[in-house]
Amino acid sequence: MNQYQTIPPDTIFRLNDEFKADPRPNKVNAGIGIYLDESGKPFVIPIISKIAASLDFKNFNYLPISGDTTFLDESAKLIFGNNLYKKFNNKLAKQGVVGGTNGIYLWANLIQSIDKNPTIIISNPTWENHNKIFENFGFNIIEFPQLDKNNNFNFKALEKNILNNPNSYILFQGGPTHNPTSVNPSDTEWKLLSKLLKDNNNSALFDFAYAGLGDNFESDCFGVRHILENKIPVSVNFSYSKNMTLYQHRTGILVILTDNNKEKLILESNLKFLFRINNSTPPAFGELIVKNILQNETYKKEWLHTLSEMSASLKKRRQLFNKYTNNRFKFILNQKGFFSLINLNPSQIETLKTKHAIYLLPNSRINFAGMALEQIPYVAKAINSI
Ligand code: PLP
Repeated sequence: MNQYQTIPPDTIFRLNDEFKADPRPNKVNAGIGIYLDESGKPFVIPIISKIAASLDFKNFNYLPISGDTTFLDESAKLIFGNNLYKKFNNKLAKQGVVGGTNGIYLWANLIQSIDKNPTIIISNPTWENHNKIFENFGFNIIEFPQLDKNNNFNFKALEKNILNNPNSYILFQGGPTHNPTSVNPSDTEWKLLSKLLKDNNNSALFDFAYAGLGDNFESDCFGVRHILENKIPVSVNFSYSKNMTLYQHRTGILVILTDNNKEKLILESNLKFLFRINNSTPPAFGELIVKNILQNETYKKEWLHTLSEMSASLKKRRQLFNKYTNNRFKFILNQKGFFSLINLNPSQIETLKTKHAIYLLPNSRINFAGMALEQIPYVAKAINSI
């Protein structure tokens, strides 16, 4: 065993542990990506609590290896909308996964089992687990800068990388809520990208961790739906951690478009094989809650309503932060979702922690969803003072 070397701890969870151990009463956790209510308390979407409390388990037997069939179908309908679902369902391979992280891992594992030299184009910056997972499976990673000098989506940089790397995979984050920048392609750019992908024989992987928390499902899923409609090879990894507040229940789905029904069944058998040797069967609690919500129009409406309230609250928190930082980071007002990068340097981030008990990620990602309304002026003033 002496060949092992210590691997540095996960940045986000290490910071979270430091935060928990910090005895200062005024501490603020704007690091880890969770949504707290406006008073800073942990938040569970009310209809999710209600359904969770009503689940009457008669047994805890295993789910099928792929997961609950209704959960899988209802999730695909949610992602693609009813019409595209009807049109493409017989070609969509589906597998329930243990949250979004496991979905990316499973997808990388699947690709690596048939493609010994895969190349994937990934934005820089991105969620830090992306690169770790793809490196683990031996992918060649090509990075493009997500932002241009005006803090807009850097379409030109991505275009150049696609043109230079035909036949590669491209990782997109779905919706406007890119982690950590909250900047993503516009609808016009999604259309241009779809043509580029088609012309260069690329395949897209959409990672959705915040669907419905940007604008709404229709608009957040525009890019992926457009790409599916144009029959471009596409996979979708969809997490319910944030948008159903199911974080610890590890619930998600991986959907892959195939050419025909026969291929769908073959691919599902491969997904099942890999999932079985890694995880065996998915956790049931989250899948059953999601299935209950998505199957019932009244529950679904209530859930969507809460998502719109959460988005509105994020907007309010951004506005308050902007007010108290005197428009210094005005660009955050055009961004949606939990995060923004506020371009502080590592020593400023360290000062915020040591002097003011304010925790941001080292790359200067701030999580608006993690700050209570009354903490925001304090955080903003501290940032102004360094
Ligand atoms: N993808 C992105 C972009 C994320 O931000 C996250 C979580 O922070 C995930 C995937 C993974 O989510 P989960 O907690 O469901 O594994």
